[in-house]
Amino acid sequence: MNDRAQAPCPPRTIAEIAAELQGYDPQALSAAGVQQFLERLVQPVTGSETVGIFDALGRVLAQDIVSPVSVPPHDNSAMDGYAFDGAQLRAGQALSLRCVGTALAGAAWSGTLQSGDCVKIMTGAVMPAGLDTVVPQEFTTTDGDRVHIAADVLRRGDNRRLMGEDLSQGGVALERGTRLAPAALGLVASLGLPTVRVVRRLRVAYFSTGDEILSLGEQPREGAVYDSNRYTVFGLLTRLGVEVIDLGVVPDEPAQLEAAFRRAAAQADAVITSGGVSVGEADHTRAMMKQLGDVAFWRIAMRPGRPMAVGRIAGRSTLQAKSPPSADSTETSSYHIDSNEQHDGAVLFGLPGNPVAVMVTFFAFVRPALLRMMGCSEAPPPLLRAVSTEPLRKKAGRTEYQRGWVSTAPDGTLQVRTTGNQGSGVLSSMVQANGLIVLHHGHGHVAAGDTVDVMMFEGVV
Ligand code: AMP
Ligand code: MG
Repeated sequence: MNDRAQAPCPPRTIAEIAAELQGYDPQALSAAGVQQFLERLVQPVTGSETVGIFDALGRVLAQDIVSPVSVPPHDNSAMDGYAFDGAQLRAGQALSLRCVGTALAGAAWSGTLQSGDCVKIMTGAVMPAGLDTVVPQEFTTTDGDRVHIAADVLRRGDNRRLMGEDLSQGGVALERGTRLAPAALGLVASLGLPTVRVVRRLRVAYFSTGDEILSLGEQPREGAVYDSNRYTVFGLLTRLGVEVIDLGVVPDEPAQLEAAFRRAAAQADAVITSGGVSVGEADHTRAMMKQLGDVAFWRIAMRPGRPMAVGRIAGRSTLQAKSPPSADSTETSSYHIDSNEQHDGAVLFGLPGNPVAVMVTFFAFVRPALLRMMGCSEAPPPLLRAVSTEPLRKKAGRTEYQRGWVSTAPDGTLQVRTTGNQGSGVLSSMVQANGLIVLHHGHGHVAAGDTVDVMMFEGVV
């Protein structure tokens, strides 16, 4: 199968996508509107590689895996017991059989059988020809070579696993777009396949912006804060299984911002930044995004995370055509693109600066978009429903995310409470949370005892 059969569509411009979406208003975009926009903006990357099964965990299949064999390859026993012809079972009657041999896992029994015979059999052993039922050992009594089965303890066909019941030869065992979880690795191995064809790893560059942002190791100074976003984003990206390109902290200075954007766009499929996208922000980040790319600046009807910039930063060829590369942009020798793949620059996610807003916009928008770019076809994890133990203030007409702790109530139902200060810069309440309470666009205040949706971190982090 040719895994490059689907040629990527040429990327669409912000204006083209905006024209397609009904009621698109960049100054009051709903969270759902953002998701619709991103689905149109990003495309799966097309390169793929073959990797050994131990390196395939978390990778996305570039092609269907067709089963070369049936699993299991033979009918076999699901229990330790005695195999016999289940046609001899009669309702209300005990059955007495003669044991004529033993079948072990890996050592089939192949003698001839008479009516009334049975074969002692171990779990996983091939069912002897003509036998279709296994009575577990604990349901029998024995007397020399006689095996007695009480009345009505089993039905014909019980405790037999059928050839191909897990996977049938020629069938699709795993579909292209599947992200390989531990069970899938085991399934691949059960087919006897030592390698799989996976989508190449997505490359995502990140940098923090802001004059007040200190790198670790720098002396604290008044009005400055240590860069926490870079580490949070590193963690989120690493868990997603992408290759992270860390470009550090970039001060609010045009030449340095330009160099960082050029470098990021030349090396990466996606560029994530934090800070400097607020409306009226007096810095150069927005201006540089505009200059180097095709970018939309949004005010999203959500909390936290209102300002966000999204678009495409021009790639190497376009950039070089626009102006000569800076000294920095030559340091990209490790970057190589598939000859069949166009590098049209990188998708840009300009996130707000507040640490919690970064995480919320990542969960809500960036993560699903990156999964799509990774070629992954899995549905987003379902939201959990839990009873709020407290009233929650909520303004209708925007989506609000609150940090919550979900636990099991004494009656067995799920309940959720918020975790302290919900300020958009307060990371400690994020650390104390095991999920985000999602208060949807149209909803107003929540009363104690109302059921709310929760996006659990387990599964998305
Ligand atoms: P901005 O979106 O640039 O207006 O930033 C909003 C708030 O987030 C400001 O208080 C910034 O100091 C803070 N902030 C921005 N970037 C970071 C970062 N990388 N680490 C920690 N805080 C940040
Ligand atoms: Mg700022």
